[in-house]
Amino acid sequence: MVVKTQIPQQFKSMKSTSIGGRRPICVDCKTEMIPEKNSILVCQHNPAGKPIKIWYADLWKCPMCEYEIILGFGSGAISEWYEDSFEGWFKDVEYHF
Ligand SMILES: [Zn+2]
Repeated sequence: MVVKTQIPQQFKSMKSTSIGGRRPICVDCKTEMIPEKNSILVCQHNPAGKPIKIWYADLWKCPMCEYEIILGFGSGAISEWYEDSFEGWFKDVEYHF
């Protein structure tokens, strides 16, 4: 049984409505994207397809065409494959890359 503790601040995603002062722009629609969901869990895989790191990040969406992107990653991975907590976090991952 893996117990999740409080997430340290450095692992949290940016939780802001801008990245570096500017929102991402949808090239097709020439429109600012909007934050769709904060603090989603995203799993990074190595080239062989093995899950290696879990991150917090933000999901952004174009209000016109609904194209979605993920950015605003926390400054460090919340868990890595060799850690005991990895399996517990992995169950709640929403997106993989
Ligand atoms: Zn668009």
